[in-house]
Amino acid sequence: MDLGALSGIVGTEHVLTGDAARASELDWRERYAGKALAVVRPGCTEEVARVVRWCADRGIGIVPQGGNTGLCGGATPDMSGTQLILSLQRLDRIRAIDTDNDTLVAEAGCVLQAIQEAARNADRLFPLSLAAEGSCTIGGNLATNAGGTQVLRYGNARELVLGLEAVTASGEIMHGLKGLRKDNTGYDLRNLLIGSEGTLGVITAATLKLYPQPAAQRTTLLALQSIEDAVTVLAAARKGFGAALTGFELIAGSCLHGVVRCYPQQRIPFDGASAAMPWFALLELSDSESAGHAQERFETVLGALMASGHIADAAIAETVAQSRALWHLRESIPLSEKAFGKSVKHDISLPVSAIARFVKETNALLQQSFPGVEHVVFGHLGDGNLHYNVAAGTGRTEAELLAQQDRIFAIVLDSVARFDGSISAEHGIGQLKRGLLPRYKDPVAMALMRDIKRALDPLGIMNPGKLL
Ligand code: FAD
Repeated sequence: MDLGALSGIVGTEHVLTGDAARASELDWRERYAGKALAVVRPGCTEEVARVVRWCADRGIGIVPQGGNTGLCGGATPDMSGTQLILSLQRLDRIRAIDTDNDTLVAEAGCVLQAIQEAARNADRLFPLSLAAEGSCTIGGNLATNAGGTQVLRYGNARELVLGLEAVTASGEIMHGLKGLRKDNTGYDLRNLLIGSEGTLGVITAATLKLYPQPAAQRTTLLALQSIEDAVTVLAAARKGFGAALTGFELIAGSCLHGVVRCYPQQRIPFDGASAAMPWFALLELSDSESAGHAQERFETVLGALMASGHIADAAIAETVAQSRALWHLRESIPLSEKAFGKSVKHDISLPVSAIARFVKETNALLQQSFPGVEHVVFGHLGDGNLHYNVAAGTGRTEAELLAQQDRIFAIVLDSVARFDGSISAEHGIGQLKRGLLPRYKDPVAMALMRDIKRALDPLGIMNPGKLL
């Protein structure tokens, strides 16, 4: 295929093939490898539109890619060598910040951390936060409707967006960057594109909501005897802190021990029996008044929970550095997991009230069929979102575990369905769960999604083989 016309659009140095394309052809988890026709890196929205038109004219599949940190193989092409990776990384400008309107306009390739920093420099908060924030892009965050650690207070990525600019599957530009809180003018195309995983169009820019910076934050790691205690502590923290509760992460003890085994410079801030507790929770309070007010609320709520025995021990961060170290422990879990080998991952959501029973029953079912597997469980308990991962454990190799992936999926996801949960809480469907979706999603909803896909992408060129 002659790629000369693409070079004419984006410049020869931004059409990558062969070894130069290799890193983009492999996903973050190294579970999916593909072969692209080329990686094309446009530098502005107009260039994105011209590249999409070039592909549409030839029926060439387009795989949009941001930071390539997605966990479902959504940004990886197939092995045919006929699909084009459309990298948005050069669209990395913050176009505007409006502090009166509390909005920021960012291009799709802006790294999430750069947006957080730009907001902070304007004395505002952009609250989306996840462990991949140093390399994931806002376009990818919106395409997957990412969640992260602050959903409890601020919602998913979708709830942080007021406007979108996007390129349709036919290469037209939809201009929708108005920063309005109210705009009831028909179908909500913005929210259709958010979470569509690159299957309906290419997001090129977004108008994002900003919030006030909290006056003070308090962070603590709690040692807990049981998952039931975690649920009780969450309910009490919600009641006691209200909207000031900005984080509540559940962590199995084995995950924390895995982090310090992998990164010996990190430490669990407990000794003896507390360090050996089966569960931990990372709780964050963001107070809009003062440090003193935050401390007072913290002591009242946590003091009562310790007195009632629901919290076994608490390590309260006294400094910003200590708070960062606690969050760093939590954020290092996926990296330490990766270092110890591949696992079968489930990003699921459940009613919070069902989580303790789900974990116990599903652990038992897995042990019946796969004795000795290791349960790697952590997640955003405040949102009912668990990362329920299954590692090889004892008695089998990593390859033997992965060969059983479909059976493990069936056990875990059938259990999720019994508890009225969702098979994808925040990572999306991608390639990983595409085959599973029809089994767990309402058939009428599936049919409507296929109709929408046909209407917006009649040639089927947008991220083929993903989601549907
Ligand atoms: P990519 O991986 O490049 O793409 C992801 C999907 O979006 C693909 O389907 C791709 O085709 C599509 N896409 C990308 N850009 C565009 C665009 N501009 N227009 C249209 N489609 C596009 N996720 C959470 O929700 N919460 C977490 O807490 C969380 N933690 C993580 C921790 C680690 C260590 C890692 C590696 C990942 C984590 N993730 C988490 C996964 C998360 O989905 C991604 O990190 C991020 O949202 C994807 O952004 P990206 O730019 O890397 O997208």
